Amino acid sequence: MAIQRTFSIIKPDATKRNLTGAIAAKFEEAGLRIVASKRIQLTLAQAQTFYGVHSERPFFGELCEFMISEPIVVQVLEGEDAIAKNREVMGATNPADAAEGTIRKEFALSIGENSVHGSDAPETAAEEIAFFFSGLELVG
Ligand code: GDP
Repeated sequence: MAIQRTFSIIKPDATKRNLTGAIAAKFEEAGLRIVASKRIQLTLAQAQTFYGVHSERPFFGELCEFMISEPIVVQVLEGEDAIAKNREVMGATNPADAAEGTIRKEFALSIGENSVHGSDAPETAAEEIAFFFSGLELVG
């Protein structure tokens, strides 16, 4: 498997509890390199666009309100098989189902406030990176 890049968000529940460093350490321990990182606060319109694929789901409003409730940290992670590796380190969406040692098992509060987002495929990774980072912010 080749070197890939994936997109990650450290979500409001985690930035609020000062877990940015602890979560970044999990990525680095797994062999993922943080090649871009910034702390931002989303507008409602940006959150709705980013999660547009979920717009018909019953939790869409709650999800968008949560994502704008506090600053987030958006990152690009690089490494061997980075998309799948990040999903593994994140753990299942619902922390009750997440495996031991995963970020969501250790830190998530609920299925909604689950500490991290990670791209699920190469196409979404490319789109999500481009949504948040300009070429100038990405070291080759
Ligand atoms: P992910 O790829 O593991 O993040 O999961 P999904 O793509 O299925 O869902 C996107 C995000 O929507 C999740 O990470 C949660 O923050 C949120 N979400 C998913 N299911 C629920 C739910 O049943 N209730 C609430 N409040 N949020 C949810």
